[in-house]
Amino acid sequence: MIVCPVTLIKNWSQEFKKWLGKDRVRVIVGDSKQAIETFMYSKNYDVIVIGYEKVREHVELLKAAQPPIGLVICDEGHRLKSDKTKTSKALQSLSCMRRVILSGTPIQNNLGEFFAMLADFVNPGILQNADHFKKNFERPIMAARQPDASSKQRQEGAEAQETLAAIRSHFVLRRENSVIVQHLPAKYEYTVFIRPTDLQRAVYREALGNSAIKTMLEGFDVKTGISLLQTLLKLATSPGLLLKQIKVRRLPCFANSNAFPAGTDSADFALSGKFSVLGAMLAELWKSGVEKVVVVSNYTSTLDLIETHCKRQKYPYCRLDGKTPQQDRIPMVDAFNRGPRSRNFVFLLSSKGGGTGLNIIGASRLIQLDSDWNPSNDLQAMARIHREGQTRVCVIYRFLTSGTVDEVIYQRQLTKLALSGSIMAGEGTASSSKSKNTFTADELRNLFTLHEDVACQTHDLLGCRCHLGEPAVDENDAAESESSGDHDDADSSDDDFEGGFVQASQYRDKDSERALARKRRDLSILKTWTHYNTRDLDRVDQIEDILLLSVIYEALERAKLHTSLPKLQEADQNLCGGQIAFVFGQKAGAPAPAAVVSGDE
Ligand SMILES: [Zn+2]
Repeated sequence: MIVCPVTLIKNWSQEFKKWLGKDRVRVIVGDSKQAIETFMYSKNYDVIVIGYEKVREHVELLKAAQPPIGLVICDEGHRLKSDKTKTSKALQSLSCMRRVILSGTPIQNNLGEFFAMLADFVNPGILQNADHFKKNFERPIMAARQPDASSKQRQEGAEAQETLAAIRSHFVLRRENSVIVQHLPAKYEYTVFIRPTDLQRAVYREALGNSAIKTMLEGFDVKTGISLLQTLLKLATSPGLLLKQIKVRRLPCFANSNAFPAGTDSADFALSGKFSVLGAMLAELWKSGVEKVVVVSNYTSTLDLIETHCKRQKYPYCRLDGKTPQQDRIPMVDAFNRGPRSRNFVFLLSSKGGGTGLNIIGASRLIQLDSDWNPSNDLQAMARIHREGQTRVCVIYRFLTSGTVDEVIYQRQLTKLALSGSIMAGEGTASSSKSKNTFTADELRNLFTLHEDVACQTHDLLGCRCHLGEPAVDENDAAESESSGDHDDADSSDDDFEGGFVQASQYRDKDSERALARKRRDLSILKTWTHYNTRDLDRVDQIEDILLLSVIYEALERAKLHTSLPKLQEADQNLCGGQIAFVFGQKAGAPAPAAVVSGDE
């Protein structure tokens, strides 16, 4: 029995046919009670592919299968991260002897998930029970990580960690992306930092100028915090998203706003830095004639604006979001992949609308417009085009608006990925099972600050000096001031993001130096990326993606005209809205360049 999200059922059936032919293994889709019964009582089928919901619904029926089901495979098995969910319980009650979990993101938050999902579901009893696990592994490991841990506690923590790693190695099989990547065309990834427009900054400042913010940092009000955060997130994408609400004075922080000139059009791409770049990229790609593109956002309102733009520019597009009926999804993807570009150019995808498992290999470019608090959501979305069957070199762009909340979310993602990587690699880090979804006072301030004149605040935080032509700070410098494995603010579950605000108000950052060092270490993965400061044209010329390169130059030329400065060099000292300010780039599969952070390499 293959259990998977509904969106993947068709994929699974197709894969069986593709790899094993029609007759070797006979597959039935368990989409109705009748189908399940057919599977159970007839000898004609070997495999049933079934959605998680249907398993829950028909578990009693499945239990009665004769002969009993001999192997359960749970695809996207991180859904079972709590042993208390109905789905977990249903699957456990099947008492099938062999259970396999497939997951690209096995540890999203904490050790408790590791116990429930990886250990106890596939190997019931291997770590005895939850209490035993807590007592013998989780607690000592956590205690050892406290700043005031005694040497005995550290010792015990290290031993527990080691034992756990040994047990884990018996049943966890890691297959890194690199295994597949060898068989695929190259993939380039660019994190693109874009200068906000003047209007964008003005409205952002207005939102932050609200007195509520000042009081907020003293005694944090969750409601105000969240609604402000949502406002900022929208602004980081485009002020156009708020135009209507501001005009009718629905948002208190804009009660007296006159930021928008009369007649402003909310779908005008020139309002926003990100959209300016997006517009230029789409135009360039359309002209160049061969490639198709996926544009991803977490917000349907953002997709609405892009849809309007596509209509106006007469770009053929399709759109898949939460409202797209299940049965229309695969046909839509197929049509996009196979159809001519004159009918399928842009694929608008809502990352929360069920993008998992879709193979949108007709496109070789993907633009991710906004970032989610949970990095695995973004990684899922960004993986849509670089998959089996892809024949072109792929380029993936993640857009961030410089100096805004976008950067904070991105940094948070990197921190989380650092955590998950170290647990799976068996390194000495782990995290608490309680969701300590805190923001330090500094982080909170950062969240609600517009860093006006930065090209890339993340790069500044990293402490890298490549933009000055100097080598970066040694990675060890940053980590030295701290004991290793101290990831104590990295284990948040942002599903319940609100919790973070409450706790954050009680948090006092005693040592911001130390916090900065920790931050640097968490971001240190970026040192394996290549850094392109766009004010350094020699550096820009090293960008391998011609599209990105041409968009950067085009904007520079525009800025030159705009500022009427005599030389390009002078224009680029003062970046204009919509210009690309900084880029992190990496090529998948390629070994990390040795001196990536050195400016004169
Ligand atoms: Zn750098």
